[in-house]
Amino acid sequence: MAALRIAHLYPAQMNIYGDRGNVLTLVQRCRWRGIAVQVDGIAPGQRVDWTRYDLAFFGGGQDSGQALIAEDFVQRHGPEVRAAIADGLVMLAICGGYQLLGHYFLTHTGEKLPGIGALDCYTVGGTRRLIGNIVVAWSAGAGAAERIRPRAEALPAAPTPAYLVGFENHSGRTYLGAGVQPLGRVVRGYGNNGEDGTEGAVYQHAHGCYLHGSLLPKNPHFADHLLRLALQRRYGHAAALTPLDDTFEQQAHAAMVTRLL
Ligand code: GLN
Repeated sequence: MAALRIAHLYPAQMNIYGDRGNVLTLVQRCRWRGIAVQVDGIAPGQRVDWTRYDLAFFGGGQDSGQALIAEDFVQRHGPEVRAAIADGLVMLAICGGYQLLGHYFLTHTGEKLPGIGALDCYTVGGTRRLIGNIVVAWSAGAGAAERIRPRAEALPAAPTPAYLVGFENHSGRTYLGAGVQPLGRVVRGYGNNGEDGTEGAVYQHAHGCYLHGSLLPKNPHFADHLLRLALQRRYGHAAALTPLDDTFEQQAHAAMVTRLL
């Protein structure tokens, strides 16, 4: 029986707008398919063997929540998480978690929180928050080709629909460097910074984005994309996921896309 191990970073400090729903979705979609899944919450001060995990989730948080855990994350886990990502660890980081995967987050009050630099991006807080529903044209097709791990070559084509929907609420403006690809293009909403039309960042199998919602319940095709990557990494071949009856999830997703476009 297939099995996956998920690390959930700082669930007590970094869980805003229902981001925990992403973990629930991953777990449930595994269970429905008979895939055993173990989730370990990672608390501040905890030692972690990052080679044990197939997938890591890092939710969003207020600036104050980020300040509580930023140093622990950078000092204790930075080098090993960077190495794990280089080795194909699948990661989803939302908003505050996304910002801490980058080089740094300079808050709107002038506090500079370090990031681990796993994603080539940095974030600067603004006085006006970027709030609202968001639709992104997901660039998985193009992005997947550029995510250069040889083991990923056998991945099936990106599922359709190619939109991601979510809810964003952030003061941080994130700017991408040449070392990452955007997760997608903003169709409605603000995205990374409200200026350049990009949303999120992808490097190898690490994904950062501003999509709360929760993201994965609203975008089951993206949840399955992450599970496929994780199974592929662990078992070394393109994993066929048993199709699920997603009628309601797809209808909810499509209703948001239709309403917002
Ligand atoms: N504190 C960060 C910001 O406002 C992240 C917010 C969040 O995770 N929703 O930019």
